[in-house]
Amino acid sequence: MECRNCGTNLNIVVCDLVSAPLSNAYISEAELQKPEIYYPLCLYICEHCWLMQIEDYKVADEIFGEDYRYYSSFSTLWLNHAANYVKMIVSRLNLDATSKVMEIASNDGYLLQYFKIDGIPCFGVDPAEGPAQKANEMGIETIVSFFNLDMASEIVKLKGKQDLIIGNNVLAHVPDINNFVAGLEVCLSPQGTITMEFPHLMELIRQTQFDTIYHEHYSYLLLATVKSIFKKHGLRIYDVEKVFTHGGSLRIYACHTEDLSHPTKPTVDLIVNEERLQGLFEGQTYRDFQRRVNEIRNRFLQFLIENRMAGKRIVAYGAAAKGNTLLNYCGIKGTELIEYVADASPFKQGFYLPGSRIPIVEPRRIFLDKPDFVIIFPWNIKNEIMKQLEGVREWGGKFVIPIPELEVIDA
Ligand SMILES: [Zn+2]
Repeated sequence: MECRNCGTNLNIVVCDLVSAPLSNAYISEAELQKPEIYYPLCLYICEHCWLMQIEDYKVADEIFGEDYRYYSSFSTLWLNHAANYVKMIVSRLNLDATSKVMEIASNDGYLLQYFKIDGIPCFGVDPAEGPAQKANEMGIETIVSFFNLDMASEIVKLKGKQDLIIGNNVLAHVPDINNFVAGLEVCLSPQGTITMEFPHLMELIRQTQFDTIYHEHYSYLLLATVKSIFKKHGLRIYDVEKVFTHGGSLRIYACHTEDLSHPTKPTVDLIVNEERLQGLFEGQTYRDFQRRVNEIRNRFLQFLIENRMAGKRIVAYGAAAKGNTLLNYCGIKGTELIEYVADASPFKQGFYLPGSRIPIVEPRRIFLDKPDFVIIFPWNIKNEIMKQLEGVREWGGKFVIPIPELEVIDA
């Protein structure tokens, strides 16, 4: 296999999770009678450009098609994050009614709605039909499509060049990152800004966040790698911030390479240097990852088995991709160890998790059943979830966070 960015042969396997179904391929009652497709799930690091990546099985259409069940608006944490971002960026870039804003992977319009409130012209691009339709119904124009170089030219014809291009949690999810970034350059106005947020590979390695590895997530990114890809396409990262979503993300600010109105801030070199000091430009650093992953898996299984043998009831919260990677690598099937997973999204309730086939139920089931343990799969929003489930403490229930280290928390 060759690196998707630079073509170098990939020799280092960072983590082999063997195989798994697509993590967003929730199963309906009727589909329980049908087979499931498992794809290999193996992570490589490129020793030349340090792009960590999984093999591309050409399943993007399947992943983000009409069946896509993730609606950003169901998380109040995301809504707050979006509202704060819009407030910050509108003032920083002096955006007004004459500006042009585009968001890629705009989902159900959870972020663009705040530009709309401020009277700033905006539109979204997203391939998932369900969420895009919801955005359009709310009056947030959304083009139902993947974003790529061809689409970029279409957008410029239809909408002109953009003063702000936003992409949160999309850069890591595109199969052809070069084509995608080339498209960004085409759509950007001469003094425009691109902001993108993506999980920082440095944190994935540091905190053994192996459950963020799934087929929808093609690339695992360092700032140094993104910087060189942007440079190749005539773009320069002029600022970067750490944001605390997804267990540690970066928000980059980019402009055209020759745009003098945005001088490069020292934080860019500081973070690249931090990556260097963490040993992330050395193959050796990645070789210990699998051992740590296996330790987490074994401890999690040990916890489940011991408590079930002691007659305890265990359920989970959050039907997210993260939980599916963990469950599938643990080889968990059916409801013996974990009775169900509760999720607030009505688009997921009544379905089953891919692979493990654990049923997804309404959160109120937890309060009817009063289980001993509630596992929280989306550890990145664990505080928000524990607050929502505060009532669990009434019967002495405990929360369990499996990653980066198994942690049992009294409610
Ligand atoms: Zn490479």
